[in-house]
Amino acid sequence: MSGIKLTDVRKSFGSFSVIHGVDIEINQGEFAVFVGPSGCGKSTLLRMIAGLEETSGGQISIENEDVTHREASKRGVAMVFQSYALYPHLSVFENMAFSLSIAKRPKAEIQEKVKAAADILRLGDYLQHKPSQLSGGQRQRVAIGRAIVREPRVFLFDEPLSNLDAELRVKMRMEIARLHRQIGATMVYVTHDQVEAMTLADKIVVLKEGIVQQVGAPLELYRDPQKMFVAGFIGSPGMNFLKGKVIGAGQGSARVELDDAPGQAFELSTRTPVAEGATINIGVRPEHIGLSNGGAGLTLPVTAEFTEELGGTGYLHVLTATNAEMTVECRESRPQPKEKISLSLRVPEMLAFDAEGRRIS
Ligand code: ATP
Repeated sequence: MSGIKLTDVRKSFGSFSVIHGVDIEINQGEFAVFVGPSGCGKSTLLRMIAGLEETSGGQISIENEDVTHREASKRGVAMVFQSYALYPHLSVFENMAFSLSIAKRPKAEIQEKVKAAADILRLGDYLQHKPSQLSGGQRQRVAIGRAIVREPRVFLFDEPLSNLDAELRVKMRMEIARLHRQIGATMVYVTHDQVEAMTLADKIVVLKEGIVQQVGAPLELYRDPQKMFVAGFIGSPGMNFLKGKVIGAGQGSARVELDDAPGQAFELSTRTPVAEGATINIGVRPEHIGLSNGGAGLTLPVTAEFTEELGGTGYLHVLTATNAEMTVECRESRPQPKEKISLSLRVPEMLAFDAEGRRIS
């Protein structure tokens, strides 16, 4: 069954159009993540699903019911915000029980539901604490608990981990993944952190300027991006892009030369026709580049700049002959700043995009 379906959804604030006809289908029980750069419309889209923002066009369905014009409280959704939005004068128990108390549910039911949510979130020992006595991670768990007790059809998370430090973010990310496995509800999660997107999502929706760029499973987007924008956005550190030229075009293939590797033309199989002389962009991930002289594939002379050290691996930043910046994952060796080295790039691991950023190989 469909969990959430958006059909040609649009949004304008006055004459400023921010969502330009979005179609997305999220299955029931699926964990969908909306990612994209700041201002691309992720939160606006989420708020329209929640009913906190009116649509300017199109239709929103939840579990096959049209909710486009239904008020927020009647949609069966619960939203968790970055700011937690807890009531400071109420205890953890009272915060979690709040919506049930307002709905005048029986005391025994409230007790039972809050206890069950507190168990899931390991908040049992804190039920009498006030929010001010809790850590950031615990406060966010209370906010999530408040959503759980309502037993919504859909959980909506708007950058829920942005206020936490790096270590807590990782922990809470695991908690949210565990929660999803445990209760299996449809969840939509907004973030600009593509690591959160990769680790949490069944399905990632990549947005740019209010338009869906691609929808797919995390590894599908990583391995098979249809646009240069998606290729650059998914994966951390991001994909490297090098400029090249088509020096010979055939049926389903093209002969290409990189500006940074003259005299080393290579053959690419192409999905769409390309013209001789056309500029193309070749994408290579940092983990697919060899740090070797005379390795297999193309040899690219570069100058080492600096290495970001992570312990087991490091990310070496280099400059090519045409001053393009690249990042290379390195394991054993760590070239010194200003050292002239050669990178080896294997053609099967390259992705090619045309001048407009559309995938061509
Ligand atoms: P971020 O990651 O920075 O939170 P976002 O992708 O969630 O960004 P939105 O908050 O959805 O982006 O905003 C999308 C666009 O709509 C932005 O240009 C923003 O300025 C604009 N916008 C959002 N809310 C309003 C509003 N109430 N009135 C006018 N413009 C708005």
